[in-house]
Amino acid sequence: MNISCEIVRDLLPLYHDGVCSNDSKKMIEEHLAHCESCKDELKAMNDDTIIVRSEQNLSEADAVKKLSKRWEKGMMKSALKGAFFTLITIAVVLLVLYCFIDIHIG
Ligand SMILES: [Zn+2]
Repeated sequence: MNISCEIVRDLLPLYHDGVCSNDSKKMIEEHLAHCESCKDELKAMNDDTIIVRSEQNLSEADAVKKLSKRWEKGMMKSALKGAFFTLITIAVVLLVLYCFIDIHIG
């Protein structure tokens, strides 16, 4: 069956996504077998998809990186907080010990 390039290009996105009917698929494949320009069109579609996908991956990786950075910052903050409270506790204990010793010796 002969179909025009226009029909094929209408259907190409569906064919590309694998959502067209088997009959349309057959027609498109028959057309693509002898039509270079429509084949190029499909190829361009594949390339576009790959680019979009890699961009998506990139932004996802970025998001994860940002998230882990934020997480690291949070960890640093709580680690600092922990160190601060530990120092305060030690200082208080030393002060109490000092007073205790002072009272008993002095
Ligand atoms: Zn064509």
